[in-house]
Amino acid sequence: MLRIGREKVCYELSSRLKPVAFVKPGETVVLETDDSRTGRLKRPEDVLTSVPEPRNGNPMVNPATGPLYIRGAEPGDALTVDILDIKLGSQGYLLAKKGVGLLGDTVRETTAWIIPVTEGQARFSHQISLPIRPMIGVIGTAPAGVPVPTMYVGDTGGNMDNPRITTGTRVFLPVQVPGALLVLGDVHGMMGDGELNGTALEMPAEVVIRIGLIKGQEMALPYLETADLMITTGYGSNFFDAARQAVREMAVRLIDAHNLNWEEAGMLLSAAGNLRICQSFGGPEVTVRLEFPKIQTTGE
Ligand code: CA
Ligand code: CA
Repeated sequence: MLRIGREKVCYELSSRLKPVAFVKPGETVVLETDDSRTGRLKRPEDVLTSVPEPRNGNPMVNPATGPLYIRGAEPGDALTVDILDIKLGSQGYLLAKKGVGLLGDTVRETTAWIIPVTEGQARFSHQISLPIRPMIGVIGTAPAGVPVPTMYVGDTGGNMDNPRITTGTRVFLPVQVPGALLVLGDVHGMMGDGELNGTALEMPAEVVIRIGLIKGQEMALPYLETADLMITTGYGSNFFDAARQAVREMAVRLIDAHNLNWEEAGMLLSAAGNLRICQSFGGPEVTVRLEFPKIQTTGE
């Protein structure tokens, strides 16, 4: 099985990057990923010395492994990425930073909390352990236009911080450049909706994925499917812009799949759609997801 080391790192979704490997649709790949500070924060006292340096005006935060060139992928196709497994490293960290997140005004000094992860539990203290919920923060393909740094998100993905991107999920991504140029990183041991204090449980990991390609299926934004759910995504500088994107995307899917009109789609979404915040304080953008149950269509 093809394995890509975590030293094959990039900090943007971009058509100008050289692929680190060429992959055929149907292939399974293991990607080693680094934590959001590229392995430089191992002890609480590293918190200030591990602050990411800027490159091209953007801090080198959220290293992503890749890009992978997918053979046969062309603009106007859709890439599918099945998340088969996420193996976490043995420890991660959380951060409290002045002015960041909803409790940012209470932070006296920037603090890192190192969290050992053993036997499926994140060990916050002797009293506090919580079961891990591994997820992928950054996943995306290269945009045709201006590169998107991995601390941001765009129409082809990036720092989506969507907790549903986990084992068993299929991620659909737009292809805008030849080869798609897939990148993946910023794995979290767990992250609550909203990423309220600005960072999740940031960890190195090994992610096993299977790549697929759907020819001629143009997509506007990333989309997910789990066993039970269809999940559209949205992003923007504020909650309402992000939410409107995700809601419209889902409405279009329901209209196409079930021959509804817009009014019916809206009413159905009101009845059964769950709009959820993904990340609102960990980056400069708000990201959201809209979950709708998969409908089992019955014959006449
Ligand atoms: Ca993130
Ligand atoms: Ca992160």
